[in-house]
Amino acid sequence: MRIDILTIFPKMFSAVLQESIIKRAQQKNMVQIFVHDLRNYTANKHRKVDDRPYGGGPGMILCCQPIFSAVRHILQEVKKEKTNKIKGKAKPQVILLCPQGKTFSQKMAKKLAKEKHLIFICGRYEGIDERVRTHLVNQEISIGDFVLSGGELPAMVVIDTLIRLIPGVLGDKNSLNFESFEGNLLEYPQFSRPANFEGMKVPSVLLSGNHALITAWRKAQALKRTKQRRPDLLKKLISKGE
Ligand code: SAM
Repeated sequence: MRIDILTIFPKMFSAVLQESIIKRAQQKNMVQIFVHDLRNYTANKHRKVDDRPYGGGPGMILCCQPIFSAVRHILQEVKKEKTNKIKGKAKPQVILLCPQGKTFSQKMAKKLAKEKHLIFICGRYEGIDERVRTHLVNQEISIGDFVLSGGELPAMVVIDTLIRLIPGVLGDKNSLNFESFEGNLLEYPQFSRPANFEGMKVPSVLLSGNHALITAWRKAQALKRTKQRRPDLLKKLISKGE
């Protein structure tokens, strides 16, 4: 997979992309990530990326020119680099991070993890020129019903979530099987050593060595927890007859 990120704050990504699972996925060549500074694509000598909105109103918005130029540059680059090994469904998904977009979910992450090329556009200020939305973007993603000051953190959230779903990225692929939201259930409670910490004991079934009992206990706990915290998920599970 190739991921391109368009931002006016490229440095924000350095730490996140250079640690842990995302770092290893890049080292294993399972994903290539390019962070582009939108200021490098401006057509004015002051590298200005924002301007006042037509019709008046508060603040500034990101102009469309640098964003169109950056996306076109990336598409040209991909076309030129025949060696980039992007095969099959190579048409990129151009994604705008936006509070007005579809709320991000594990289901959306799974779909994105199957793509070959994703381009993320991080908005700033009061937002972005509407023509980016109408003529460049394939999908708009929100990370929740709140407003952040920029699309960088949302892009990191989406990228982190989808990269760990790419087959082979996680050391143990079974770790995805019982995770929260898998099969519309939340994960069961987990414990590690010591078995007794200041009088707080680990449930005895987990120490029993009886795998059938442990599996049944975990399933019951996952159901209980989902019923308590996310009855909406349980309804989906029942309607699917799982
Ligand atoms: N004026 C815009 C509105 O009311 O919809 C909000 C602009 S916000 C201050 C600046 C940028 O942050 C947005 O263009 C978007 O890229 C990003 N952003 C803010 N909240 C977000 C959210 N919940 N999910 C995804 N991106 C978000």
